[in-house]
Amino acid sequence: MDGKSLAKSVRERLSHRVKGLRAKGVIPTLATLFVGGVSSSRIYIEGKRRDCAEVGIEFKLFEFPSTVEEDKILKLIEELNGDDGIHGIIVQLPVPPHLNPRKLIERINPAKDVDGLHSHNVGKLWTGGYSLERSLLPCTPKGIMYLLDRYKVRLEGRLAVIINRSDLVGKPLAKLFLDRNATVVLCHSKTYSLPKRTREADVVVSAVGRRPEFVLTEGMVRRGAVVIDVGMNYLNGKLVGDVDFEGVKHKVAYITPVPGGVGPMTRAMLLQNTVIAAERSLR
Ligand code: NAP
Repeated sequence: MDGKSLAKSVRERLSHRVKGLRAKGVIPTLATLFVGGVSSSRIYIEGKRRDCAEVGIEFKLFEFPSTVEEDKILKLIEELNGDDGIHGIIVQLPVPPHLNPRKLIERINPAKDVDGLHSHNVGKLWTGGYSLERSLLPCTPKGIMYLLDRYKVRLEGRLAVIINRSDLVGKPLAKLFLDRNATVVLCHSKTYSLPKRTREADVVVSAVGRRPEFVLTEGMVRRGAVVIDVGMNYLNGKLVGDVDFEGVKHKVAYITPVPGGVGPMTRAMLLQNTVIAAERSLR
């Protein structure tokens, strides 16, 4: 599954929507709050800046030193909440241990929560009051749904095994899969007999990111399955997924590569959420 080209077409469509907004005097703007310390985050932030520039979204970065007091960040979030020129706010995760990420996220106005992590937006997802096209849903699960839809992967009645139970990936994806009438199993580090479970699955989603300790191998998937690789691991300086791609690709109906699969779709969905938030501000 080619996430790179699908993300490109999503960005092209978003560019048109951004032009429409700008014609009405709205400049879609994404504010990113970054607390220094995690060097890998800087790479993601620069990626976001480039993505925004490509579709015409304004990108504003607010940087704090790693020792910043929580109140300072909360105060800035309040200011951005009240600023009509800001449509999306994200806190780049992870944050240093003295900060409570949940507290920061909960302070964001849900209408500007373009990561889809505020309890208001999580609640909308779990109570069914959402739409894939118009709601602020977490970017990775949303991107995965777009990929599955693009390749016409049917979920109804099928067994989906997700190896991840985080708020960012596993839990929201489970709900999206359930709403497509899949039977969903969430696995994690305490799951017994994981290979037995993944071998039964029609769709396997792996989001572990612990290579070489964890690798999804050929023996862990059944022939004709669909494999979505969310994991990001650096092996000898090279970005790889959780899946042994070369070993698995011959056996399955579809597989997402790393890089070029879920990653670009996640990034495109952040842009989409920002455009949704900006369009809503017109109403
Ligand atoms: P996380 O919160 O650390 O979640 C990792 C999950 O893997 C947890 O549920 C953990 O179980 C489980 N796990 C760990 N070791 C395992 C093992 N040996 N066997 C089975 N399950 C195991 O991380 P995350 O934020 O969800 O991200 C997960 C991965 O996806 C990372 O590599 C991250 O970089 C990547 N990611 C990629 C994208 C993208 O756009 N491509 C977006 C988001 C995340 P416990 O819950 O028991 O600890």
